[in-house]
Amino acid sequence: MASPALLMRVVASAYSVAEKAATIVRNVMAAGDLGIVEKTGANDLQTKADRLVQMSICASLARKFPKVTIIGEELVIWVDPLDGTKEYTEGLLDHVTVLIGIAYGGKAIAGVINQPYYNYEAGADAVLGRTIWGVLGIGAFGFQLTEAPAGKHIIVTTRSHGSTLVNDCISALNPDSVIRVGGAGNKIIQLIEGKASAYIFASPGCKKWDTCAPEAILHAVGGKITDIHGNSFQYNKEVKHMNSAGVLATLRNYDYYASHIPNAVKQSLVP
Ligand code: AMP
Ligand code: MG
Ligand code: MG
Repeated sequence: MASPALLMRVVASAYSVAEKAATIVRNVMAAGDLGIVEKTGANDLQTKADRLVQMSICASLARKFPKVTIIGEELVIWVDPLDGTKEYTEGLLDHVTVLIGIAYGGKAIAGVINQPYYNYEAGADAVLGRTIWGVLGIGAFGFQLTEAPAGKHIIVTTRSHGSTLVNDCISALNPDSVIRVGGAGNKIIQLIEGKASAYIFASPGCKKWDTCAPEAILHAVGGKITDIHGNSFQYNKEVKHMNSAGVLATLRNYDYYASHIPNAVKQSLVP
C-alpha cells in the first residue's frame, strides 16, 4: 500500500500547485498573447498557458517529491496543465481546467481539478475559480454533489473533436438532450453537478492525463468511467497514453448506457 500520509501530502501539494496554475492560466489570458501552437492539427492546440503551467506543476512537485512521476515505486502523477485548450483560445473560459491525477498500482486513487474561471460570468463580486479534489474511499470536495434529472438521458460530449462515429453513438442512445462542451475535466464536473447523466466520447483522442484526476473524483463519489467497451483505464507509468477506445462515464446508471452502445461503434474502436 502507498502510505496514506504520503498520499495526503501529495494531494495537498497538488491542491496548492493547481491553484498556482490557475493564476498562471488567468494571467496569460489577461496579458493577451496566447502563443498558440498547433501540435497534431488545428484541433490539438498548445498555448503559453499550457507550457508555463506544465513547467510550474512539474517543478513544484519535483521539488517536494524528488522522484516526481514515481514515488515509492508505484505512485504516478498524471498532469494535464490545461484541459480544454481549444475552448481557452476561443474564450469559453469556464470549460478550462487544470488536472492533477494520482495513481497507485495502475489505479486512479486521488485527483485535483482546478477550474480557473469558475464563476467568471457571475459578476465582479463573485469569487473566481475553484478547486475540486477527491480521494478514493474518502470522498470528493469543493462542489455540491447533485443528481441529474431522474428519467432523462442527458449526454455530454466533445465540442471540438466530433466525428461521425461520435455522433452515431450518441444518436443510438436516443438522448433527451446533448450538451457539447470542451475538456474532460469539465465534462466530469457536468456529471457530478447533475447537469448531464452520461459523458460519451466514441473516439480516440483523450489521454490518460485527461481521465486520471476526473476518474478518481468520479469514483470517489460512486460513479464509473471506462472506455466504450467497459474496460477500466490503467494508469501505471508504462501504459499507452491514448484512450484509444473512447470514454463512457456516469455518476449513476452506468449499465444502461454501457448496454446501449451499438456493436458497430465498439467494433470501430480498438482498445
Ligand atoms: P474534448 O472533449 O474534445 O474537449 O476532449 C477532451 C480531451 O481530449 C482534451 O484534452 C482534448 O484535447 C483531447 N482530445 C480529444 N479528441 C482529440 C483529438 N482528436 N485530438 C487531440 N486531442 C483530443
Ligand atoms: Mg486535456
Ligand atoms: Mg491539455
